[in-house]
Amino acid sequence: MWDNISIAVQALQSSIWEGTSIDVLRLDQLHPVVSGNKWFKLRFYLDAALRSGAGTIATFGGAYSNHLVATSYACRQAGLNSVGIVRGEAAATMSPTLEEAAEYGMQLIFVSREAYRNKTAIMQQYAHENWYWVAEGGYGAEGCKGAATILDQVHKETYTDIIASCGTGTTLAGLATAAGSAQRIIGISALKGHDGLRQGIMQLLGPSHQDKELMLDHGYHFGGYAKHPPLLIDWMNELWEAERMPTDIVYTAKLFFAVHDLVKRGMFRGNRRVLVIHSGGLQGNRSLPAGTLAF
Ligand SMILES: *Cc1c(COP(=O)(O)O)cnc(C)c1O
Repeated sequence: MWDNISIAVQALQSSIWEGTSIDVLRLDQLHPVVSGNKWFKLRFYLDAALRSGAGTIATFGGAYSNHLVATSYACRQAGLNSVGIVRGEAAATMSPTLEEAAEYGMQLIFVSREAYRNKTAIMQQYAHENWYWVAEGGYGAEGCKGAATILDQVHKETYTDIIASCGTGTTLAGLATAAGSAQRIIGISALKGHDGLRQGIMQLLGPSHQDKELMLDHGYHFGGYAKHPPLLIDWMNELWEAERMPTDIVYTAKLFFAVHDLVKRGMFRGNRRVLVIHSGGLQGNRSLPAGTLAF
């Protein structure tokens, strides 16, 4: 499923980038539903599950989790069953994302917000099942290893800066392991006050990659996870107008806003060559009223 894929690289053209060399790796074009980076993060978990003999992958997520829908789809493709432990009661949380996951065969188990906090207890509750567990958001060593293969899609030595959106930071950790120590890896947090982000990434990097130049920026969350004030929506339409670049409200709109702001602040002056990872997630926009976006 991961062989022979080829992903477009789009060079940004508009004058809003002030002449900065910026390429975008369009992982969003990989699949209309399965968010690009999730696809990469899952590959080695699927291998591990198949090798372990577990016929089922179980994982965690919220009602709008790209990770859940990606897992459901990837499992179906790999011939595995999937179980999603969902935060919140069913009636309140049945979203288009969850409906999609259920369509791909995911068994959804709804737990209260309070119970959801104790993942260990949930795993113990289902310990008698032969399930292979994947952490929320695909966080973990296999996810990091899978995300590292994202850079196989480009001639990575070309770039001085690689920039991506961060949820758990697993994708960024993977990019950092695949990058050289002279490359700057920049993460834009989609969450507000995500204090554990750096530590979570460093844990995945392990001792051999601690020298990587990692910059985490917490200034572009727009109020927090999935918050999308009018300024962000306007920016999404502006970016579409300028580059025909679709973005999502949760991750990539904030990422591109940050790239633009960092350009204006001179971050990429001096012949730097920037690679932006468009991680996908466009189906998250379905929660917006029709007509909000120009694309
Ligand atoms: C999940 C997701 C992310 C965050 O990935 P992490 O590896 O958890 O940091 C970024 N962008 C999109 C579109 C996503 O769906």
